[in-house]
Parts: sequence; structure tokens; C-alpha cells
Amino acid sequence: MKMKMKCPICNSELRKVEVEIEDAKTPAISYQCKDCDYYSFEHESTMRIIEEIKQKEAPLKIKQKIIKLSQDRLGMYFNKDVIDCLDLKSGEDVLVSIPNKKRIVLDIVK
Ligand SMILES: [Zn+2]
Repeated sequence: MKMKMKCPICNSELRKVEVEIEDAKTPAISYQCKDCDYYSFEHESTMRIIEEIKQKEAPLKIKQKIIKLSQDRLGMYFNKDVIDCLDLKSGEDVLVSIPNKKRIVLDIVK
């Protein structure tokens, strides 16, 4: 059984309304009063949407293996996701920099 939500201002019944949010797959659940301007967002759905948006903005992160090319040389493939994301083409130049011992930065020269 569902509990009816009451407006904290005028004590009227609250309506459950789904609100589309840009950049989020799932709509936010809000409760809107029929009689006054009161509305509130359901905490759970708000948190879920914040997570969805965060994930969308997170940079592409892929685990790959370093492979041995020859005696002194190691290599790494770019997989299709990386290629598509950066629009890489064979023969393009990249500048390799090493800001610290745990990071390699590639700047694409276009
Ligand atoms: Zn109200």
C-alpha cells in the first residue's frame, strides 16, 4: 500500500510527477502540490541522476596491456573506442610527455 504524501504548506495531496532531466536517462521523481506552488524532488531519484551525469562526464578510461614489440621496444594498441573518441588516424603525430612516474600524456598533433 502506498502512503499518500501531503503538502507541508497547505496539507493538500501531492502529485507524483516525473521530470525529464537533460543528460540523464531516468526522469527525476518530484512531488507537486495540487493547490499551491510547493514541490520537492525525491531524494533517491535526485541522487541517481547526479550519478548518471557524473558517469557521462567521466573521461574514457580503459585498461590495456603493454606489449613487447621488439628487444627494447614496448607498445600499446589504441582500441576502437579510443580511436573513435579522438578520431585518430594511422600516421598522425603525437607528443608524449611524462608528468610523473605514473602518468603518460599523449597530445595529438593535428
Ligand atoms: Zn500545497
